[in-house]
Amino acid sequence: MTQKNTTNRRRFLAAAGVTIAGVPAAFGNGTPEQGPYVVSRRRAVIPYEPDVLVVGGGPAGIGAALGAARKGANTLLVENHAFLGGVAAWSLGMPINQMRPGGRARSKVHELLIEKLTAYGDQALRIGEHQLWCNVDYLKVAVLDALDEVGCKYLVHMRAVEAVVKDNRVTAVVVSTKQGLATIKAKVTVDCTGDADVAYFAGAETMKETGSLSPQTLCLNLTNVTTNQVRRANMAQIAQRAREKYPLIPKGWGLGRVSNAAGFYINHAGTRDLGQFDATDPLQRSRAECLSRRQVLQMTLAMREFGGEQLKDIELIGTGTQIGVRETRRVKGLYVLTEDDALTGRKFDDAVAWRSGFLDIGFVRLSRMKIHDVPYRAILPEKLDGLLTAGRCISATHVAASAGKSMGNCVATGHAAGLAAAMCAERGCPPRELKVSDLQDALRADDVDLSRSGDEQKELVNRG
Ligand SMILES: Cc1cc2nc3c(=O)[nH]c(=O)nc-3n(C[C@H](O)[C@H](O)[C@H](O)COP(=O)(O)OP(=O)(O)OC[C@H]3O[C@@H](n4cnc5c(N)ncnc54)[C@H](O)[C@@H]3O)c2cc1C
Repeated sequence: MTQKNTTNRRRFLAAAGVTIAGVPAAFGNGTPEQGPYVVSRRRAVIPYEPDVLVVGGGPAGIGAALGAARKGANTLLVENHAFLGGVAAWSLGMPINQMRPGGRARSKVHELLIEKLTAYGDQALRIGEHQLWCNVDYLKVAVLDALDEVGCKYLVHMRAVEAVVKDNRVTAVVVSTKQGLATIKAKVTVDCTGDADVAYFAGAETMKETGSLSPQTLCLNLTNVTTNQVRRANMAQIAQRAREKYPLIPKGWGLGRVSNAAGFYINHAGTRDLGQFDATDPLQRSRAECLSRRQVLQMTLAMREFGGEQLKDIELIGTGTQIGVRETRRVKGLYVLTEDDALTGRKFDDAVAWRSGFLDIGFVRLSRMKIHDVPYRAILPEKLDGLLTAGRCISATHVAASAGKSMGNCVATGHAAGLAAAMCAERGCPPRELKVSDLQDALRADDVDLSRSGDEQKELVNRG
């Protein structure tokens, strides 16, 4: 539009007292180069002002919401997607690892989730040594059951897009809804977005690798194949033979059984061999999502065409809601967990959780580690108050982030952050002033055994 047109349009709108669908419009200072723009002032009202606001409903957010609500805090969980579960839901049946290392639930929060899944019977859940294999549609509802039981409110289709910071403290989060933006005030907020979105919007220092981010993987479910056929199929050979025709096929892939025997999922190297994609960069993310959709079709076609008698009839029955993102931004905390902490099983006086399993940089590096503590300082942003973090965006180096990303560990850091937030809200103290020994006592009362650091992995043989 030319400048003259712009001016005419503005005059016309102003003379007409224009509103956008009943709401006064605000005009930006569009230059001739940029063109004019109109900012809608529609706002939504969310009728809640919780003590604890948890943003992101993946394993960490679920742990945080349950931890806070069980402590009696008025808690609200908001989630971008239409359901809760995060990667646990869109990984389509991969094992939820480290939920019961040593063969028992590692806290009352973990136990509640297992109990709610178990209530739906064998079709919902298969329990392994330390892991749960779930039918994800039961998982999505079992999570709601657990939140209902502890009186936690939750809202889906709500994406955090801004943070309100006053006197260096996060006081509210702005979410986008179908009625426009809405501001939700809270005494304490827990960032469980995986990507540290709230911390980033609030201006906290975050860390992100360049050039070595873990790959993303779009998960898929397959059927019309038996366990025996899957066992006999040579996936590496299929990939080798098919790659010329289907160049997007990952160099690492394998079929695994989901909770019910009829279905299989594939864990695979995803974007690893296709380039570097940062899932917080809008353009790169978009490209990764679209490439991954093509990749999944190529994988299925390759299995049917090159998988011989075993896989010739295999059928694709579903794909994840989005790519599974292993690593992006992490909050810079008062302490940054390191690879050495994971390899030596470091203990900390201010331990509020521990992480077990493998050091696993999705299909890039897989090595043993020891059970190690997560200090309270690693879930506290270095300079900003009113905010805690949990899950895959806690304060850790690139390698250390991969040392504790199993979902059971994310539930554990969420539990600690949620409990801390509830105690801060009750006491009216900022998170960095919370007496850590009180938090540790509260965690022990929730059956968290804070003494496991330094343990060898022994029974924890699964990756993830
Ligand atoms: C492909 C893949 C395979 C894996 N395999 C295993 C495995 O077999 N076993 C295992 O235990 N672990 C596995 N992991 C690791 C594990 O799934 C993750 O480390 C874990 O899910 C992280 O939990 P989280 O809650 O921190 O983040 P996420 O699971 O990523 O959840 C974040 C949630 O926040 C929401 N969100 C994000 N931004 C916003 C926003 N701005 N506003 C509102 N909501 C928002 C998201 O929609 C999502 O629900 C795998 C991961 C991937 C990607």
